[in-house]
Amino acid sequence: MKRVFSLLVPEVPILIGAALLLDLPALRGTVSGLANVFPFTVLAAALLLGWRFNRSRLVFAIALLALTEYVLLSGGTAPRDRVLLHASMFLLPINLALVALLPERGTVTPAGLLRWVLLVVQVIIVVFLAQTFPQESLKYLTAHVLPAKLTAWTPVQQPAIIAFVAIEALLVMAWFREPQSPVRGYVYGLVAVFAALSWPAAGPGQEIWLATAGLILVVAVVEASYMMAYRDGLTELPGRRALNEALPRLSGQFSVAMVDVDHFKRFNDTYGHDAGDHVLRLVAARLAQASGGGTAYRYGGEEFALVFAGKGAEECLPHLEELRETVETSRFTMRRRFRPRVAKAKADKGRKTRPAITITVSIGVAERNHRNANPDQVVQAADKALYRAKEAGRNRVST
Ligand code: GH3
Ligand code: MG
Ligand code: MG
Repeated sequence: MKRVFSLLVPEVPILIGAALLLDLPALRGTVSGLANVFPFTVLAAALLLGWRFNRSRLVFAIALLALTEYVLLSGGTAPRDRVLLHASMFLLPINLALVALLPERGTVTPAGLLRWVLLVVQVIIVVFLAQTFPQESLKYLTAHVLPAKLTAWTPVQQPAIIAFVAIEALLVMAWFREPQSPVRGYVYGLVAVFAALSWPAAGPGQEIWLATAGLILVVAVVEASYMMAYRDGLTELPGRRALNEALPRLSGQFSVAMVDVDHFKRFNDTYGHDAGDHVLRLVAARLAQASGGGTAYRYGGEEFALVFAGKGAEECLPHLEELRETVETSRFTMRRRFRPRVAKAKADKGRKTRPAITITVSIGVAERNHRNANPDQVVQAADKALYRAKEAGRNRVST
């Protein structure tokens, strides 16, 4: 449920908001007024973010949207104008995908400038074709591959529709391969762009949908920055800053469990830092799925925290014991590149199965009570309990 929510928010509410704004009769009067300010507000926000956060891709994508708006609003029904319109519709998703999938390269670097040069070259070619071969170009741009009835509801022509669908599929795949990547803004932005191009009449409707696409891209950058501050990039768990803000918000009873990987320095020394990172991700995944409704945080290094709202330490014990056991019995298989560096060739010889390595954790838990009333004290008490678990021989839970 939480996962589905995070896939849809905030972009879907933004899209629904734009659709309602344009569709509800009661709001219709405000639309043209809004169309005068909304696009410029988004433009200003995008330029400001692009400049301050060094987001050249955002600036480029907004430039593409502005160019599209210019072509859409210039209207015109002569073949020449129609070539400009349909060529823009066809090229827009392709250019947006290039922006979304190519790495951030800065604006005034050779790679960043190349992008702008490519855009200018496209504009020159399209204008040239529109002037010189309007009829032939239109024939290709408005070609029918599918039955015409199927796409009669939109002014977007079939070649452009196919480009949109193919690019959207590509972006969705890229997003699912890397859930934290900024591609998601483009996945949803493309929907708003298509709505703009499908809008039946030139004017405010198109402007508002294009500005909505820009807003989604701006929001994606803001969200990504928030994530960077509050989420740990390695394990994708919320980080210490998030924990520090979450604890004071809790009212009443709660417990904090500190979880520390045993002899992790030794593990790193034996298998290498990359293998260590791999194990931290696996342990983090176990913590995120722990029973009892605890929220997992990466406290720092190989230390994690689990916060149980509304639970006393005693109540948490069975869940923590279960977690400790799950980690101990998990088979952390090492990929070949992670095998011990020493005598690697010899060890690999004649071995068919991947070696399984046992990882254990020690856990200390403390609750809020009259002695430890504020969050810092609870964390300190949990740390002391963790120390006792280590002293008592590791791979255990202490209160
Ligand atoms: P103990 O059982 O007492 O906890 O022993 P330990 O070796 O786990 O404890 P110690 O605090 O001495 O070492 C923690 C090690 O964790 C040191 C550091 O190399 C490693 N470590 C911390 N953060 C990371 C990380 O992000 N990636 C990897 N691979 N190792 C990390
Ligand atoms: Mg440790
Ligand atoms: Mg430690």
